[in-house]
Amino acid sequence: MKLIDAKCKFCGKTLALQVDDSYADLGDPFKLVGMAACNRCADMRVERRKLEHEIRTFALGLIGLKGKARQDAESAAAPFLHKLLESWLDLAKRWRGVAIEYDDGMLDSLLAKPEEYADVLMRMWTLAKHAAKQPELAGVGAPYRDD
Ligand SMILES: [Zn+2]
Repeated sequence: MKLIDAKCKFCGKTLALQVDDSYADLGDPFKLVGMAACNRCADMRVERRKLEHEIRTFALGLIGLKGKARQDAESAAAPFLHKLLESWLDLAKRWRGVAIEYDDGMLDSLLAKPEEYADVLMRMWTLAKHAAKQPELAGVGAPYRDD
């Protein structure tokens, strides 16, 4: 076992990479340094990717439907999307250490223009970022992190 100093490629936190000797024999372990991520950053990204995938799946299912077919599909998808958007906002809040209320306008925006799901998600993520910059608006103190 070999320890190599590295930094998280997302937040810059100092890490000690544990490299197994069998890997060190196969290749240059210093190639791992540029890919290193701390658990907090890696876990958040895994959860965010999973939620984004599920939200995209529901959103794309609505595109192109019209009239009653669209209404039925929206009614069927809305409870799932509601839960997923709450989870998305919850992740953003935990990441930033801020408090933001979920608002049905987020779901309404997504249902109105499912093809713009990525913009809705980005706006929600940015809301948490701004709340972290201006904690007095969110009512919770939190350090600002830029990523
Ligand atoms: Zn990190």
